[in-house]
Amino acid sequence: MSDKNNNTKTLSQQISVMSKVLDNIGSYVFSKDLTGKYTYANANVEVLFQKPAEYIIGKDDSHFFDLDILDDLIESDQQVMNENITLTIEEDTVIKSTGKIHTYRTVKSPLYNDNHEVIGLSGISTDITEQKALEADNQNKKHLLDVVLNNVDAYIYMKDANRRYRYVNSRVADLIGLPAEDIIGKFDHDVVPPKYAADFWKSDKAVFEKNQKVVMNEKLKGPDNKIHHYLSTKVPFQLKGDLQTMIAFSTDVTELYQLKEKFEQLANTDELTGIYNRRYFFENANREFKRARRYQQPLAVISLDVDHFKSVNDHYGHPIGDLVLIKIAQLISPTIRAEDIFARIGGEEFSIMLPNISTTDSLHAAERLRELLDNNIIRVNSLELPIKISLGVSVLKATDNDFQALYSRSDMALYKAKSHGRNHVYLMD
Ligand code: GH3
Ligand code: MG
Ligand code: MG
Repeated sequence: MSDKNNNTKTLSQQISVMSKVLDNIGSYVFSKDLTGKYTYANANVEVLFQKPAEYIIGKDDSHFFDLDILDDLIESDQQVMNENITLTIEEDTVIKSTGKIHTYRTVKSPLYNDNHEVIGLSGISTDITEQKALEADNQNKKHLLDVVLNNVDAYIYMKDANRRYRYVNSRVADLIGLPAEDIIGKFDHDVVPPKYAADFWKSDKAVFEKNQKVVMNEKLKGPDNKIHHYLSTKVPFQLKGDLQTMIAFSTDVTELYQLKEKFEQLANTDELTGIYNRRYFFENANREFKRARRYQQPLAVISLDVDHFKSVNDHYGHPIGDLVLIKIAQLISPTIRAEDIFARIGGEEFSIMLPNISTTDSLHAAERLRELLDNNIIRVNSLELPIKISLGVSVLKATDNDFQALYSRSDMALYKAKSHGRNHVYLMD
């Protein structure tokens, strides 16, 4: 066999392979001459037009497409060949044979002869109808998600284990005062003051370490410059092939938090005088007692009772008596150390708990209070009342089993102070 024959055989083999490839490429492959007539159509085009290649070749698009898109097809063909450019066109096409609308992405390129003159064009058309539908579906879902996430009454955000924000909803963006795209990729310490950033990381870390949902309270200074309290739920959220991430939902519970604080304060406060009440005193007393025992620190209690208070009520009436009690509390309160607890135990009886104080100092403290009342006339309305008090002091002993033991001694000391003639301080050892 001659070389030429050999070459021809190889060439025809190559063409046969190429046309097999083109038939199985999953796209519509064709070529046209300068007049728009098909010079090649792969198997897919045959199926689409429902005609064999021999029928298609030599015919132009008017045989296969509706008039309304024909002009566009011819125009783009002409542009490729006249301007010698490659065009990528996305077009919706009604297929004559089926009547269905399909979207195609078509790449058309000029074809050249050996002299580099344009002799036609080649086209590869891929049906992207399904891909388009998926894209639209995704976009709709994303839009729905955006609307939901941005309108729900919560701060929603996503962070990764490198501490970077992955997502923030518009409420978070508003709170931080930056557009969402300026927050994504940033660290907490880039967008909030360092002290809050450190707290956030502590709770975020708990989610990553436990790899389970964590619910906690958090706080952050708001745009109004006030501390806001948040209840945050943080859940691990693992994306395939990605860092560990978490999604968090925080709701502003500042109002609830303040109500709770107010409630607690009310529960601890004596209604008449505004100082601590009996409940608070004994609640803390037990704690202080245990602490003093553990650290072997001194602890003293002063019990204080108004002398002849009944006669104030009897002479001026109960409401004046109330005002006197308020005045007494106001007089004593500023002299109390921060670590002491001054409470109205009931009626005209008060107690002071003094942690970490020597016996001598506690006795001095009681004596100063006696003098305070002794030297100050109580003024209510236009009355001037010489109110005196008696005080009993007790200090913690190694044999005290509970706070009550200490407290009872201060009560006994008070009784002794009364029997010593009132306006008196007595220490019960
Ligand atoms: P002393 O303690 O010196 O023995 O005499 P006293 O008169 O203070 O003692 P007593 O315990 O007999 O009386 C206490 C009085 O305090 C009786 C009660 O009318 C009055 N009292 C108790 N609680 C209140 C109160 O909340 N408001 C007023 N106005 N009076 C009260
Ligand atoms: Mg009294
Ligand atoms: Mg009394």
